[in-house]
Amino acid sequence: MNSRSGSQAGAGDLLELVRSGRAVTRGALQQATGLSRATVGQRLDRLFRAGWLREGAGGPVDSPLGGRPSITLEFDGDHAVVLVADLDTRHARAAVLSLTGEILAEHSGTLVIEEGPDLVLAELGRWFGELLEKAGQRPGEVCGIGLAVPGPVDSATGRVVQPPMMPGWDGYDVTGRLSRALTEHAGAPPVPVLVDNDANLMAYGEQRAGHPDCAAFVLVKVSTGIGAGVVVDGSIYRGIDGGAGDIGHIRVGADALCRCGSYGCLAAVASGGAVARRLAASGVPAASGSDVRDLLAAGHPEAAALAREAGRRVGDVLATVVTLLNPGVLMIAGDLAGTPFLTGVRELLYQRALPRSTAHLDVVTSRLGERAALIGAGALVVEHLYAPERVEERLRALGV
Ligand SMILES: [Zn+2]
Repeated sequence: MNSRSGSQAGAGDLLELVRSGRAVTRGALQQATGLSRATVGQRLDRLFRAGWLREGAGGPVDSPLGGRPSITLEFDGDHAVVLVADLDTRHARAAVLSLTGEILAEHSGTLVIEEGPDLVLAELGRWFGELLEKAGQRPGEVCGIGLAVPGPVDSATGRVVQPPMMPGWDGYDVTGRLSRALTEHAGAPPVPVLVDNDANLMAYGEQRAGHPDCAAFVLVKVSTGIGAGVVVDGSIYRGIDGGAGDIGHIRVGADALCRCGSYGCLAAVASGGAVARRLAASGVPAASGSDVRDLLAAGHPEAAALAREAGRRVGDVLATVVTLLNPGVLMIAGDLAGTPFLTGVRELLYQRALPRSTAHLDVVTSRLGERAALIGAGALVVEHLYAPERVEERLRALGV
């Protein structure tokens, strides 16, 4: 095991062993930690009293220590809920999740990020209140909130840092405002709020759901903008202040004006927004990445040709990304992620990257679709709150 062992292993370490599936019986926990049967029993009792553990539904299994078959233990994913939301530029999606990521209630609708954080987060608080009612959950059962935003986030502070697509959000206290909005609209006590970039959370959700054994996973989201999320050894790689993966503003030498104010960014020529602008200029009604997605779904030939060209632009940049990171999976997600775009990505990626870095690379499309960031946000909150170093303090707060 990689956590503390022997007499140092606390209730949090036992919970971690059970949640990860590495040890799910009392005997296996004794073996993994070196703790006595009595000590394991005492620590498990606290977790049972908190409602965090329950006996598994699968029935007894053989014990590694021999003797009678043992009852299996599992994390009780229903003792609390997480509220999650994914903000796009003109649209948002929110949900109530169980701790194991099951969607209990969901809502999506128009929410314009340019209206600024105060209005947008107040409205999200209202959505959360309604969703809790819809899911039949009490406000006191909310253990945390996870929020995905389309911009760079300093995860230490939860603040958005110079976001090109989020005017008015730079440095704003998102976590404080959202926690307050939940109290205002649902009467819930303050809870921890984790904010992260949408591509990061999509990558985290997708890696856990579909590629848990992939030690280097890259997701590229191509919607109104372009961003990438990187998951290394099961953790989001953010760089030193949340800037990792912001590939949309790499200069690719074109002369188009980008939303960030610079000319020639990748996003200015190859995003859903850029394709929409080119379609509109030739008389096809399209204003956003989601309009392009609809045209692609309907097999519109000009949209398909432009998406393929955009794919080639992105593929060129991804050749560098893949050479640097040597990922096992490169997932293409977002509004443009269909066959024409993927074809374009593959054309340039395999042409420009070293064969060595693409030999074991799978280029795939999303499995969780529009829910990827929600699922990733929920998982991030749960991993944060139930991490061994936080369990002791939380158990004491519960009085167990
Ligand atoms: Zn830019």
